[in-house]
Amino acid sequence: MEENYPMLSVEDALARFLEHFHPLEPERVPVLDAVGRVLAEDLVAAYDIPPHANSAMDGYAVRVEDTAGARDDAPRRLRVAGELAAGYTRDASIEPGTAIRIMTGAPIPPGADAVVPFEETTRDGDAILVTRRYPHQANIRAAGEDVRAGEAVLAKGAVLRPQEIGMLAAMGQTDVAVIRRPRVAILSTGDEVVDASEPLAPGKIRDANGYSVAAAVVKYGGVPIRLGIARDTVEELTAKIRAGLAQRADLFVTSGGVSVGDFDVVKQVLAAEGEITFWRVRMKPGKPLAFGTIQGVPLLGLPGNPVSALMSFELFGRPALLKMQGKTRLAKPTIEATLVDEIKRKDNRRHYVRVGLETRDGETLAHLTGDQGSGILLSMVRADGIAIIPEDWTHVDAGARVRVMMLDWVEV
Ligand code: AMP
Ligand code: MG
Repeated sequence: MEENYPMLSVEDALARFLEHFHPLEPERVPVLDAVGRVLAEDLVAAYDIPPHANSAMDGYAVRVEDTAGARDDAPRRLRVAGELAAGYTRDASIEPGTAIRIMTGAPIPPGADAVVPFEETTRDGDAILVTRRYPHQANIRAAGEDVRAGEAVLAKGAVLRPQEIGMLAAMGQTDVAVIRRPRVAILSTGDEVVDASEPLAPGKIRDANGYSVAAAVVKYGGVPIRLGIARDTVEELTAKIRAGLAQRADLFVTSGGVSVGDFDVVKQVLAAEGEITFWRVRMKPGKPLAFGTIQGVPLLGLPGNPVSALMSFELFGRPALLKMQGKTRLAKPTIEATLVDEIKRKDNRRHYVRVGLETRDGETLAHLTGDQGSGILLSMVRADGIAIIPEDWTHVDAGARVRVMMLDWVEV
């Protein structure tokens, strides 16, 4: 009976749940498959970046001493003795009294120690006129000015964003060790539930959760293994769970069959196949939750209602997935907003309220996205964030300041 299940705060339930997850093993992947993942090796630069001193401007490479004493009324005339494009080198040293026409990124020719930008010179036949003295290394990017050979550039645990991927490529890495992606077996349960591809016979509803949870798994870096839908029979549920085990899942996620009044089949099968406890979490939506392990694989049993299922996955499944991927920032980003709608009646659970956000006169306003029932998936579809209404608030006045968990900020 549900009344006998322990009642836990969201924090307690989450802490107990996350204890069972640890970073998975590393694997080597091509750098572009590593975006958003956690680096599993320390990386030291093998060579300078840039590898050679090069021009920061289109202009003329010169010897600083040849510009000494140059003034507007007494320009120095330097003969243009050659040209150097990016990607090419010149072995011969620059002769005194000469300049080499040079493009941005081209290696500085031996003997040159400044670059005079085009716009600061005038052409005079086969020569240029320089009207001032240039300091040493003017308009030259030194070898290693970005990264020095031997420098520790990226450390284990770094989340690889586009800039880190670019740095890996600049370091000459084509592949990299990252924590592997968790494999998540997803099972919907219920005699009434049919797949989107099946006809909708009387009494049936389509499986939203199998898809929303699979999508969330992808979004948070996992690999979904869709086990489909199990009827509420011992045989079908047992068979699907064993199929999931055979596919080497790191996490099982089921939906449905965990609330009071359900036929006990889901509970019975989970208990027979592994160690399962049922919790009442002090939250709305998503109070009932099952947690356990099946042959050592953790299982998260979500409620069946589509909003409850997805919200519970956001709160429990997501941080578990991130932890398995070696990430350490597990909390979803929140902002503060003004709730423009009133919430009249509220019980002593933490309410997760779906809100749309807009900014007006520099203030972030949150409005309810409609009916907050746990079966109203459209309220999630319309939402930018989830306002978190504390347990001890009995009602919420219009204009209250609330914290809003952002649904769609990048996961790092
Ligand atoms: P349950 O937790 O199994 O009692 O299900 C609670 C409610 O969610 C019932 O109205 C179910 O029909 C519905 N439900 C269960 N599983 C799904 C699913 N995969 N997709 C959409 N609705 C579901
Ligand atoms: Mg059910």
